[in-house]
Amino acid sequence: MENLDMSQLKSIASRCSEYSPNGLQLTSSTNSNDVACTNCEHYENSKCSLGLIDQILTNLR
Ligand code: SF4
Repeated sequence: MENLDMSQLKSIASRCSEYSPNGLQLTSSTNSNDVACTNCEHYENSKCSLGLIDQILTNLR
């Protein structure tokens, strides 16, 4: 799996139908609206556990 930068992870999450905020941000006043794979509960070990990153990335190119 290639390394993705934050802007890519945001673009992917904003297009992803399975994006699910992991809730770790709670009431934090900063960045609480950031949609990115890193904030998704399906994101594990720098990968999407549903395997959607590659699929969406392909459509971004
Ligand atoms: S981690 Fe997977 S399910 Fe979550 S937003 Fe990214 S591509 Fe979608």
